[in-house]
Order: sequence, then structure tokens, then C-alpha cells
Amino acid sequence: MNFNLASPFYEQARAQPENLALRVSGKAYSYGELAALTGRAAAALGDARKVGVLASRTLGAYVGILASSWSGAAYIPLSPTKLPDERLAAILEIIRPDALIVDSAGLARMTPALRAIAPPLILDLSGQFNLLPELNSLTKERVEAPSLRGADDLAYVIFTSGTTGVAKGVVIKLGSIAQFLEAMRVRIKPVSADRISQTSELSFDVSVFEMFLAWGSGASVYVVPATQLMSPSHFITDHGLTIWSSVPSIAAFMRGVKTLKPGAFPSLRYSVFCGEALPYPLAEAWQAAAPSSIVENLYGPTEATVGCVSATAGSEFPATPTLNLVPSGLPLPGVEAAVVDESLAFLPVGEVGQLVIAGGQLAEGYYNEPELTRERFPTIDGKRWYLTGDLTRQDEHGAFHHLGRMDRQIKLMGQRVELEEIEAHLRSVSNSDNVAAVAWPIEDGLVQGVVGFTSGVSASPQELLDLLRRRLPLYMVPRRIVQLDELPHTSSGKIDRNALVLPLNESPSLYEEAS
Ligand code: AMP
Repeated sequence: MNFNLASPFYEQARAQPENLALRVSGKAYSYGELAALTGRAAAALGDARKVGVLASRTLGAYVGILASSWSGAAYIPLSPTKLPDERLAAILEIIRPDALIVDSAGLARMTPALRAIAPPLILDLSGQFNLLPELNSLTKERVEAPSLRGADDLAYVIFTSGTTGVAKGVVIKLGSIAQFLEAMRVRIKPVSADRISQTSELSFDVSVFEMFLAWGSGASVYVVPATQLMSPSHFITDHGLTIWSSVPSIAAFMRGVKTLKPGAFPSLRYSVFCGEALPYPLAEAWQAAAPSSIVENLYGPTEATVGCVSATAGSEFPATPTLNLVPSGLPLPGVEAAVVDESLAFLPVGEVGQLVIAGGQLAEGYYNEPELTRERFPTIDGKRWYLTGDLTRQDEHGAFHHLGRMDRQIKLMGQRVELEEIEAHLRSVSNSDNVAAVAWPIEDGLVQGVVGFTSGVSASPQELLDLLRRRLPLYMVPRRIVQLDELPHTSSGKIDRNALVLPLNESPSLYEEAS
């Protein structure tokens, strides 16, 4: 069996070349057109095995991902707009790609310093169809079909926030993503008439679901422009989208600004929310806006390939008590989920513990991080598990309920952020150990931002923020930094983060002058 991610796309391109494959930046591309471009870009990649795709929401980005897969390489999505130079350089140093594909935003990032560590092969896909400069300067040579790949070959490496201050690369195999996509195909039953939203950044693995669910079934991918991401109502109705996929934060924002109107999205037949807890009232508001749609909560860490436990909102399972969330639900086929205590002993139904995942969707591990991989993917009773760090409880129906984190990882607009990583950088730029980062504010259970605290630091908050912006993706940079005379401590001597948040909750503008 050929596990190349691009093979189902190739089959669709042969069977129905006229069908719409992709709509991006106001232009539409058929399967035939996209496959022709992909085959040529794949030829340009030669025998590269790891391909960085420094591109986002452009034709070049999608050709880049398809071509990397087509040529048999693993792709590494790198956001040209979200990653500051230092972090981009750090990731390139870790992964050392054989080739880099850039769109115009990616090309603009190629400073002499980054060029010095970038691979010699940089494929410029910054133009529109027929104007892709590098492709046109090549001969008409093209790779006719995706190369044969096995289940253990690599699909992609996604970098995510690491507690130590260094991003870590999650390595996903082709067999894992194939298993996940097949499970979702059986659930959603996409057909060629489906129009699927592409909302997620390519460096967030939900994008793999959005693209390849569509391309495996002859359906069309509709890329929501960055400017419409928080208010996509017109985009959904103008294009008659049938399948919606996003983080719940987008729906929460729409609800907040009252664009989630009852009956607004009659064309939607399936809506998948992934990446964050899905509050029941939000699911109900979406259901009212999209009355013909199934509303699904898909839970999963990058390390278990996009999503691995899922439930539909509505009658399937009761809501999570107290938190009033749509439950995470049941494991997808080929996935095992269980609850363990602190000593990694399995707990019975009803007990609260850590959610652990096993089965075919588990990542190979963290790129070049064997120790961290062993720590997070231990063998328990002869089987390899991933320790999610999520607190959970299984109810009497077998459904898992998300109860929060055991550590200080948070989600910001669905993006995973380790507060320790922000603190590590804050320590370094302020040259002080007296730092803290807290999630604030939190609205309807969804974190809206981060506030940093320092004490005894000579640099001003503004100077510290400027330095952080050079190191961290924008979404990880605190909204403000507050300088206090002293950080509060608990009786055991730890920084008392609750004491930092409480005054903010009571008086949200309290520190505005101090910061
Ligand atoms: P990521 O690897 O970016 O997908 O982040 C994985 C983490 O996001 C999980 O370990 C959870 O803490 C959280 N998460 C993802 N999906 C859900 C969901 N449907 N409900 C609650 N938390 C979720």
C-alpha cells in the first residue's frame, strides 16, 4: 500500500481534473491545475527528504505542501508571518531541511542571516498560477505521480511550544495520518461537492485534516483569508461552505460580536471544532446558526496526530458536569485512551487522572530529542503510550471528559503555549529570575491572553516586550508586562500566581499604569 499523503489527491486529479481543488487569495484552481504545478515543484525538490514550507495562505503554500509530500519528503510548516527571526533560525538549526519552499512573505524573510543557515535549495513559489517564477524557469520536467511511501515514512514535523524555551518538533509518520484521515472520512463521508474551510495555520496540525480530508475525496479547500478569520460569516455564506473546521475561539469571537445568528449558515452539514475545550453554550449557538450541521468536538494533541477522541454535541453524551463542556468523547478507531494516576497505574471509570493515548496515531516522538521522547511516550504494561498532560475522567458511557491541564500549558486561539516557555524568555531578556507569566483574561473558559510580571528589573516593560517580540511568535508575547516591587510567594516559597491573577480579575485595568 502506498501511504504518500498526496496519492489520494493524485487519484482525484486523474479521475476528475476539472473539479475545484483549492480556492485561495480570490482565485480557484482545479485538481488538474494544482496537480500539474505540484508535479513540477516536486521535480524541483529532487531527492530532498525534509522540506521547510515558509509560506502561509497562498497558492505557493499549498503547492509546497503537496509537492513535498508528492516527492516523498516530510514537510515542516513554518509561518512566515508568526515566527520571529530568532525562533525561525532556531527551528532551521534543529531540523536542517534539505530544501525550503517560500511564498512572497517567506521570500521577504530571507535575510542574509537566515540565508546563511537555510539550505541552498530555496524554491520560490511567490507568484500566482503560471507566474510561479522558479517553476517557469525550470524545464517542463515534472514528477508524474507521487512516489511510493510506507507507513513508517515521515509525513510532517510540527514545531510546538517547549517548556525549556526551545520549540520541539513533533514527528508524524504517514501511517498515523492515514489512520486518522480514514477515521474522519468514515465519520464525515466527504464527497466531491463538499466545500471545506481552511482556517488553521499550516503549522497547526488541524490544517492537515482540512486539506487532506478534502483532497482525498475530490472536495474543495476554501482558504479563509487572514483578514476574515475572526468574522468568517460572509465567507461561509458567499461560498456555500458545507464543512467547517476551526478552533472554538473563532466561534466564541463570532458569538461575542453577534455574527453567530440563528439560521445564518444553512449550507453547513458538518462542523468540527478542535484544539480547545468546546463549551456547550457555544456548541448550541453554532448549532442554531447551522441547523443542518452535525457539531463535533475533536480532541487531540499534535503528538497523537490531529485528533484522537471525539464526540458530537447534542444527545450523544451528557455534558461535562460543572464545566459544561461538550465531552471529548470516545477514541477514534485504532486509538486507545485510558486514565492513569501519578505513578502511571491505570484508573477505573469515574476516577480523575491523566489522559494517556496509545495506538496507531502516536507520533514517532520529538525530533532529535530521545530523552524527552522516552519521558512523554513511556511503555506501560508493554504498550507505548503518550502522556497528554490533560486531566480527564471517563463516564459510565465510556466518554472521556476534559477537565483541564496538569501543567501550565494553555491554548491561545487554539495555539499551544507553555507559560514556562514565556517565563524562560522573560528571564533571559530581563536578566532576572523574578519573573512570572499568567493566563489572563479567561472568558467563558477560553484564555484570551498572557500577562507577564517582573520585579527588580532595570529595563522598562516596553523594552522587555520589544526583546520578546524578536524571540517569540506574536501570539506568545504577553499583552503587557507589569513591574512589581516584589512578586508574591506562597508559604512554600513558590511564586503565587493566583495572587497575581486575583487583583487583575477584580480590577482589569489595575496595572495599566504600572506596565
Ligand atoms: P495541540 O497539540 O496544539 O493540538 O494541543 C493539544 C492540547 O490542546 C491538548 O493536550 C489539550 O490540552 C488541548 N485540546 C485539544 N483539543 C481539545 C478539545 N477538543 N478539548 C479540550 N482540550 C483540547
